Amino acid sequence: MKPPAHPSVAEKLPRLRLHITAAAETCIRSGHPWVFAGSVREQNRAGASGELAVIYDRRDKFLAAGLFDPDSPIRVRVLHAGKPQALDAAWWTARLEATVHRRDGLFDARTTGYRLIHGESDGWPGLVLDRYDKTFVLKLYTAAWLPRLDDMVALIRERLQPERIVLRLSRNIQRAAECFGRGRHDGEILCGPAVREAVVFLENGVCFEADVWRGQKTGFFLDQRENRREVGELARGREVLNAFSFSGGFSLYAACGGAKSVTDLDLSPYALAAAQRNFQRNSADPAVAKCRHECVQADAFDWLAGGDARPFGLIVLDPPSLAKREAERAGAIRAYGRLAGNGIRRLTRDGLLLACSCSAHVSAEEFFGAVRQAAADSGRHFVELKTTRHAPDHPATFKEADYLKGIFLKFG
Ligand code: SAH
Repeated sequence: MKPPAHPSVAEKLPRLRLHITAAAETCIRSGHPWVFAGSVREQNRAGASGELAVIYDRRDKFLAAGLFDPDSPIRVRVLHAGKPQALDAAWWTARLEATVHRRDGLFDARTTGYRLIHGESDGWPGLVLDRYDKTFVLKLYTAAWLPRLDDMVALIRERLQPERIVLRLSRNIQRAAECFGRGRHDGEILCGPAVREAVVFLENGVCFEADVWRGQKTGFFLDQRENRREVGELARGREVLNAFSFSGGFSLYAACGGAKSVTDLDLSPYALAAAQRNFQRNSADPAVAKCRHECVQADAFDWLAGGDARPFGLIVLDPPSLAKREAERAGAIRAYGRLAGNGIRRLTRDGLLLACSCSAHVSAEEFFGAVRQAAADSGRHFVELKTTRHAPDHPATFKEADYLKGIFLKFG
C-alpha cells in the first residue's frame, strides 16, 4: 500500500509545525488526543485539512503528530505521541492490526455486528468503523480524513476483506465533503456491490437490520449490546416497556429471554417499523413467537408522565443525549431524574428498571445520583443490581469519550 499522500508532500511545502501552550502540552503528554485552536501558540504556515501536523514542546522537542483540521475548534487530532515516528504505510498497517487484535476473542459467529474501530480511544481520531456482517460502515466525524479516504479503504480491504464499505459523514462535514472532498457524500458506497439492500446481521444470535445508508450513528446502537444481553436475562415472564426503543434492540432480547409482552415506545414511525421487521425476522424463535409485541408512537417523556401507561414488570429508559453541550448539563440531570421517577411509577411490585444515559456532558456519578434520588423519592423499597459502562468494542480512554452509563434497579 502507498503511504497516504499528504497535501504538504504534493505541494512540496515545509512540514506543518505547531507549538502549543504549556497546559495543552501537559494534556497531550497525559494521553489526551485533541489540541484545540486556542492552544496553538505558533504555527509555521497555514495548513490544509488532513495534513499531518507535527507538534513540538517548549524545548522544540517532538511531542506528537496528528491530523490538522483548520475548520474545527479541535485543530489537531493526535495520531501518535511520544517518540518521533514516521507515519508511513507500515505504521498504518500496524495500527489497524493492533485495533483488530484488541477485539480478539470478544465475539463468536453468533455476533456479526460490532465496532471494529472506535475513534480516538482506538487511535483513530474522528473515525469509526462498524461491521454489520459483510457490510462495513466507515463514519467520519472530521473532514481531515477525506484526503486519506482512498488509502484507508485500501488498508481496510486488504486486512478485513469486507464485501462492501459504506461511507457515513457526520452532519457538520457533509457540505465540506461534497464541495472539497472529491464529491464524497453521506451513504456513498466506497467499494463493493452497488445494491442498496437491507443489511442484516446477528447480535448474540438475534437477527437485526441496520439502516446503514441513513440511520442514526451507523445504522444501529451497537454500544448497547451488553445492556441488551442483561435485559434478556432479566425479562422472563415480565411485561416489558422499551422506551426510546429505536428498532427494538432491547425488546428482541427480552422476547428471546421469555418476556410475556414487549411494548416499543418511540417518537419515530420508521424506528417502530424497523422494530416490527426485527420481530418478524426472529419469529422462528418460539419465545419470540409467543411474546406479545405492540408499538406505541408517542413522545416518551409525555407518555410516561401522563396517565395512559399500564404497569410494567421491566422498563428500559434509553433516551437520546439530553445534554449536547455543557450548558445543558444541569437541565439534563433534572430531566433524567424526572424520567426515572415517571418510569418507576409504572413499575409493578418486583419491577425492574434499566435507566441509561448517553450524554458525555453528564458524568456517571451525576446520572446514577439522579436515578438513585428518583428511586428514593418514590418511597418504594429498592435494591441496586448493578451499574454498567462502555462495552469492550467501544473503549473510552479520555473524559469526552466517556458517554455511556446504565443502572439497573429492582423495586419491592
Ligand atoms: N435503545 C435503542 C437506542 C435508542 S436511540 C437501542 O438499543 O437500539 C434513541 C431513540 O429515541 C431513537 O429511536 C429516537 O427516535 C427516539 N426518541 C427521541 N426523542 C424521543 C421522544 N421524545 N420520545 C420517544 N422517542 C424519542
